[in-house]
Amino acid sequence: MDSRTPGLYIHIPFCLSKCHYCDFYSSTSISAIPDFLGALFKEIKMVGGRFNSFDTVYIGGGTPSLLSPRELENILASVRENFHLISDPEITIETNPADLNRSFLGSIRGSGINRINVGVQSFDENVLGFLGRRHSVKQAFSAVEASRKAGFDKVGLDLIYGVPDQDIDSWLNTLRQALVLSPEHISCYQLTLEPKTPLGRRYRAGELTVPGEKLQYQFFMKTSEFLEDAGYIHYEVSNFARKEEHASRHNQKYWDHSPFLGLGPSAHSFLWNRRWWNYRSIDRYLASINAGKLPVEETETLSMEQLRLEALYLGLRTKKGIFLRGFKNRYHYDLLTEKKKILGRLEEEGFISVEDGCLHPTKTGLAIADSLSLI
Ligand code: SF4
Repeated sequence: MDSRTPGLYIHIPFCLSKCHYCDFYSSTSISAIPDFLGALFKEIKMVGGRFNSFDTVYIGGGTPSLLSPRELENILASVRENFHLISDPEITIETNPADLNRSFLGSIRGSGINRINVGVQSFDENVLGFLGRRHSVKQAFSAVEASRKAGFDKVGLDLIYGVPDQDIDSWLNTLRQALVLSPEHISCYQLTLEPKTPLGRRYRAGELTVPGEKLQYQFFMKTSEFLEDAGYIHYEVSNFARKEEHASRHNQKYWDHSPFLGLGPSAHSFLWNRRWWNYRSIDRYLASINAGKLPVEETETLSMEQLRLEALYLGLRTKKGIFLRGFKNRYHYDLLTEKKKILGRLEEEGFISVEDGCLHPTKTGLAIADSLSLI
């Protein structure tokens, strides 16, 4: 599969309540869903033709599982009508365990959604309460079981670690419970306390302590060892797949500068050297579309150097690393020659390896991927 085929992202900007750590754009005014959908269908029509064909569709948010199966089916029908989807597209939906039941899951599987990400976050009720999640551990188990019964054979769990006062043992316990469900994919994100969130404010007020660098490193290494011992492939800093074919085809596009189109409020798009993003406000999004204009807030054109630095940053976050000849052709930069000294030192220190024409981060390299990219 050519990973340069564009991917389509659709942002559903609604949640029943806001989680205490969340910085994604979403609103709890769910009465605006019909207006939003009306505008989304117009946006799909307006951009149809700009991108030829997609091989992935990712319905994210927000909480897409708040929509009814019929609404989701209509979105996919409109996508198929206005764009070309290859014959075997990966179609993913993000969900909240509290919304999932057999009937909902059976219907959305029937409309072509073939990959489901369940926002479990933790198998510890105290952690769920602290994060402000609106579901229980029991609901997470039932949601995954119901997904299996509805025919989903690609189930992903999203989990969060590094929560204040969490120790490694309690986190490993969450991972142990995750494995009971045999998910095809597991994302383990380290909690970040974004300034404008309730947890960020509590942190600034001195009410919370977060793991220091050393403990963060231990969380990362233990997670990786634990899941690799269980047979998972640690293919990106935060992502694990049971088999190669279970890795997210859609997310790969963000990591290798493939084109993608984002629809809905706050969604970002990328094509060649241009990035643009929609208004981070449902009202402004609606106003713009209803005035017949694309709801784009800003566009930026990236220089070759910016693209190269981004590619380095993103590539070093993935196990497959950077294919050096491809990098040279695309970004006009010979990494091995230009960075010979520092790469040699990083290799000696065990952070990277150069094999078969690729620059790979080692496990320790992946743990410090953000600093590695500063070479
Ligand atoms: S459900 Fe997801 S998008 Fe909604 S508030 Fe929680 S973390 Fe944010």
